[in-house]
Amino acid sequence: MTDLKPHLIVIGNGMAGCRAVEEILARDASRYRITIFGAEPRVNYNRIMLSPLLAGDKSFDDIVINDLAWYADNAIELVAGDPVVAIDRRIRTVTARSGRTESYDKLILATGSDPFIIPVPGRDLDGVVTFRDMDDVGAMLRAADAGGDAVVIGGGLLGLEAAHGLALRGMKVTVLHIMPTLMERQLDEAAAWLLKSELERRGQTILTGADTAEIYGRGRVEGVRLKDGREIPAAIVVMAVGIRPNVKLARDAGLAIGRGVHVDDHLVSSDADILAVGECVEHQGQVYGLVAPLWDMCRALADGLVASPSGYIGSVTSTKLKVSGIDVFSAGDFSGGEGCEDIVLRDASRGVYKRVIVKGNRLIGAVLYGDTQDGNWYFDLLRKQHDVAEIRDALIFGQAFASGGTDANPNAAVAALPADAEICGCNGVSKGKVVAAIEGGACTLDAVRACTKASASCGSCTGLVEGLLAVTLGEAFEGERAAPTVCKCTSFTHEDVRRLILDKQLKAIPQVMQELHWTTPDGCSSCRPALNYYLLCAWPGEFIDDNQSRFVNERLHANIQKDGTYSVVPRMWGGVTNPTELRAIADVAEKYEARMLKVTGGQRLDIFGIKKEDLPAVWADLNAAGMVSGHAYAKALRTVKTCVGSEWCRFGTQDSTGLGIRIEQMTWGSFMPHKFKIAVSGCPRNCAEASIKDIGVICVESGYEISIGGNGGIKLRGTDFLYKVATEQEALDYCAAFIQLYREEARYLDRTAPWVERVGLDYIRERIVDDVAGREALRARFLYSQSFMQDDPWAKRAAGEDYKLHQHLAEIRPLVTA
Ligand SMILES: Cc1cc2nc3c(=O)[nH]c(=O)nc-3n(C[C@H](O)[C@H](O)[C@H](O)COP(=O)(O)OP(=O)(O)OC[C@H]3O[C@@H](n4cnc5c(N)ncnc54)[C@H](O)[C@@H]3O)c2cc1C
Repeated sequence: MTDLKPHLIVIGNGMAGCRAVEEILARDASRYRITIFGAEPRVNYNRIMLSPLLAGDKSFDDIVINDLAWYADNAIELVAGDPVVAIDRRIRTVTARSGRTESYDKLILATGSDPFIIPVPGRDLDGVVTFRDMDDVGAMLRAADAGGDAVVIGGGLLGLEAAHGLALRGMKVTVLHIMPTLMERQLDEAAAWLLKSELERRGQTILTGADTAEIYGRGRVEGVRLKDGREIPAAIVVMAVGIRPNVKLARDAGLAIGRGVHVDDHLVSSDADILAVGECVEHQGQVYGLVAPLWDMCRALADGLVASPSGYIGSVTSTKLKVSGIDVFSAGDFSGGEGCEDIVLRDASRGVYKRVIVKGNRLIGAVLYGDTQDGNWYFDLLRKQHDVAEIRDALIFGQAFASGGTDANPNAAVAALPADAEICGCNGVSKGKVVAAIEGGACTLDAVRACTKASASCGSCTGLVEGLLAVTLGEAFEGERAAPTVCKCTSFTHEDVRRLILDKQLKAIPQVMQELHWTTPDGCSSCRPALNYYLLCAWPGEFIDDNQSRFVNERLHANIQKDGTYSVVPRMWGGVTNPTELRAIADVAEKYEARMLKVTGGQRLDIFGIKKEDLPAVWADLNAAGMVSGHAYAKALRTVKTCVGSEWCRFGTQDSTGLGIRIEQMTWGSFMPHKFKIAVSGCPRNCAEASIKDIGVICVESGYEISIGGNGGIKLRGTDFLYKVATEQEALDYCAAFIQLYREEARYLDRTAPWVERVGLDYIRERIVDDVAGREALRARFLYSQSFMQDDPWAKRAAGEDYKLHQHLAEIRPLVTA
């Protein structure tokens, strides 16, 4: 007897196609005769679990959702391994690759997505695979059996799961990610840094900012070449750079498509008899790449077909990374912006970072690393748009703490901790112990340190101890820190931060923020440049300058002026120039229509009125004439002003111009806490105005008088005499040692004048004059740090790619490192 039920055909035996069928069967099992066409030659399985399968945690049987019995029990005909190649809407039929043609009453498209393949040479080589289905996993497992190197292109969720699986299977894995941070669509910089560090600790190589130029190999893949020329060997290359909705059939059939198949709220396409569901769909401008929205869609589709139509209203999604031992959760919007408030918790000893983003008393985003227990709770608050005003202060501690609500006490977070919560990881001191000490009479930070040792070692829990003092003593605790904190993102002073960077060997901005409990996710415009400087100073040659932490002038090597144009100042060593340089400057001024050429107080020429878009070309022209940036905008050496000295002047006692040039060559480009100016005068008449500079050298018959800490700016200050030396070399050595002491000990944005006043001239004399070995060590560290300038991108940008630092600095590097 013929089955008279309407025929429902589903194209796609994947997660959405089969779930849609399940939802229909649950509502009315006898409504349709059902046929499912699947391109893959197997039953319906859980695609999400391909990652654990690759990692060896699951077998295929473990990840099957519906086995053959399910199809049989529900009278579903499965046509597996035979993809549909055409839809004829006019006569309502589908035709498969085998030639089999079936007519439908209702048709559901559930064709999922295709992995995106970046169009680079070599993408078709044997050994280049994607990560979408069982066949891909099979190819990866075969490659892993042979061992060797694997490259995964793409540091998103899928790429990292592929990398994890291949690494567990014994391959040496390199992940290439084009963006500066991993999983940038789900994680902020802080969480991404923690993730990267953990993956590197596990032995993976993670290259961010890595742009693939080609995949090379003879017949089979042998490696990947990056645009910067680096080559990474590979026996297999996995491309996991994104997906595109698979709309080919729909397009060929003339359905309305955008990025995906256009559907209405009941998942009906532009043809009333054809529905679409899953990743191939575009609903209200949205396409999805996660399963949660598919479940919502499948319910709405089944409702529309067999029950009272409820309609699909779109989905909010969350993400978890399935890499064992690494807990990552992300939901909603974490980009921040106007009206958004970040609440951040960092627990460095447990490797935990939590950030929730609140706007108008609603949670709008959450990023969790290391402790994702409360992920679902945050997600629920976010989806339901709960008012979180009542629980705002305890929100970051999770559901358990937030249940009671708190007052507006800024220390509510620490107050909400249980008594056994660890406050000081270094000494294993609990909150209960600290509170008991305070209640027992330890009313200051020092007293608590003395009683409990909390905050006495690395100091990173100082903020928490102060919070407990405030909570326990109430108004009786007034706080006690005299030194300013770096900014509102931290309770640490500049000195604390510098000390902890060295003690804890912190070598990256996100690492400092994590270890020192920064209260904001990425810092602010005050702390980022400071941290960038402190790290550059602490780890010369190791820490790579973070261009994003620099002010716009420094990034562009020019000073923005009030009309929006820029002024450009090439360096003139010791204030001396020559016809070639002057010609180059004149040419630049004419070619780029500069509006003014001005001689500056620092003895060089400022080219005014340059358009922003012309700056790279201006610098290229100046570099071609051998001129480098004068850093007229930078927290670095500005100028070394000189008078003509003994070579020309009747009163000159020494070669002040020559010495100035040599000091400038030694010092230029060095990062400093603030701008730095030097002058060398050839005699006590002091024509170079050395007595109002950061370092002033005054030449006399018997040698060189070195003074420090002067300032000719808003707060006029004459220099303090430091020491008189006999030779030019000694003058250079003292300058280098003083500069390094200032670089290592002053706060970021301290000029030398207030710094000298704060630490005292006696202290500086002790360190530079009395302590001979210490002076020599400071000088050596300065020159060592300078020797990296030729490799440093900041200096390179300023100097032009081909500029080589003076030979004597390159020579000193091995001496210092030895
Ligand atoms: C390795 C991996 C890990 C993932 N992890 C997560 C995760 O942790 N969390 C999460 O939410 N999401 C995850 N996803 C995404 C999730 O798997 C997808 O969102 C989901 O599978 C999409 O379901 P779908 O039915 O739309 O597409 P699919 O599951 O891809 O199903 C589409 C099916 O249609 C078939 N097909 C295509 N064209 C035709 C044709 N012409 N004829 C017949 N059949 C055809 C395909 O072969 C495929 O079997 C992961 C995906 C992968 C690949």
